[in-house]
Amino acid sequence: MADHPTVHDHDSGEGLRPVDEVLEHVLSQIQPLASLQLPLTEAYGCVMAEDAVATHDLPAFASSAMDGYAVRAADLAGASPSSPVELKQVGNAMIGHRPEVVVGNGEAVQIATGAPVPAGADSIVPVENTSASGDLISFLQEPEPGRHIRPVGEDVREGDVLVAAGKRIGPPEMGLLANAGHPQPIVHPRPRVIVLSTGDELIPPTEHPEFGQVRDSNAYMIFGALRDAGALPMLAGIVPDDVDALKEVVFSHLIQADAFISSGGVSVGERDVVKAAFFRRGDVEFYKVAMQPGMPQGFGQIEGKPYWGLPGNPVSVFVSFEMFVRPALMKMMGRTQLGRPEITATLAEDVEGPKGKMQYARVVVRRGADGWSATPTGSRGSNLISTVSRANGLAMVPPGTAVAPAGSPVRVMLFRSSDD
Ligand code: AMP
Ligand code: MG
Repeated sequence: MADHPTVHDHDSGEGLRPVDEVLEHVLSQIQPLASLQLPLTEAYGCVMAEDAVATHDLPAFASSAMDGYAVRAADLAGASPSSPVELKQVGNAMIGHRPEVVVGNGEAVQIATGAPVPAGADSIVPVENTSASGDLISFLQEPEPGRHIRPVGEDVREGDVLVAAGKRIGPPEMGLLANAGHPQPIVHPRPRVIVLSTGDELIPPTEHPEFGQVRDSNAYMIFGALRDAGALPMLAGIVPDDVDALKEVVFSHLIQADAFISSGGVSVGERDVVKAAFFRRGDVEFYKVAMQPGMPQGFGQIEGKPYWGLPGNPVSVFVSFEMFVRPALMKMMGRTQLGRPEITATLAEDVEGPKGKMQYARVVVRRGADGWSATPTGSRGSNLISTVSRANGLAMVPPGTAVAPAGSPVRVMLFRSSDD
């Protein structure tokens, strides 16, 4: 908080809420989604809500690690290339079957990799160290007992925690849970987020605008940002600047939603539809944040579902999603690392800030011989969506700084890896 004092400055800081405080307020109203049993292919990428505990040892049976022969090591005492020992092959141990044959004194059983070790045998001799003549097998070396046998429980013991609560299911956990017989782990699911765009001027991107109309870009940007965060976006379309129409769309989607995001209609204007629809319901607050872009924001709950009323300008949408929505979605998914990675970079050009606000400058960050550099991708207008498209980071110029000069260090939040 020390970095973001409430600034009393004619350059628009007065009465604005600091970014950190707003994020804290949002997160205080967000809980991880109730846990759910999901099939592995849906649970992939989700965070375990409970420990998955092994109900049996893995491997569950002793098996051969080699193609060769199952033998009793004592029978081959002293075997060497100069004095081979012969055993009689009495059967085959096949993969996927319980061996019916038992290895007795002087006997060997042919065995495949992964096949259960037959009773009586205590080691496996690889086929390369043998030669066969009919059912007589000649062994050129003496094995140590237990050699090339994969013992029961070597990987996991019954009662072991396979994957702990709080761990995210990645590819190795998928394999482990499947192998251990947990095809439906208990996880925090991905939030289903309803996305709507407000504005009489908006048309779908498939249509050709009449003069003054604008193709809806926010819904698609938010769709991508939601997917990137691991949430499940559901586009509910364009809603005109009409309070009843907006309420109708929101309430008709309540049952399938874990959260809502709208863009536009949260400023102070008379026609600001989101504010007009939800301000008086009491649960959604509207306020101004000491940030540029993204100053006007709405956040609250509608029937217990989080609702973000983001501003209308596309860059404001992008930045405020990063600041206030993404960390909350992470929390809903049970993640503990809520924020993006940050680095310190050297500014390649001056960045002017509105003095009273945290300025998020779109930059492209590159790693050079002297460390990271951050180059602004354009001017700071919050309608300039291409400036975000060229960027991979948001440089944070804190309140109180009128100009962050070229050559000075700046904190940068990376929103995608620098080479794609
Ligand atoms: P508003 O806060 O609703 O007045 O919107 C601010 C600005 O953002 C206006 O210029 C709108 O046309 C623009 N805007 C709002 N929603 C969208 C959208 N979904 N796609 C593109 N531009 C938008
Ligand atoms: Mg609007």
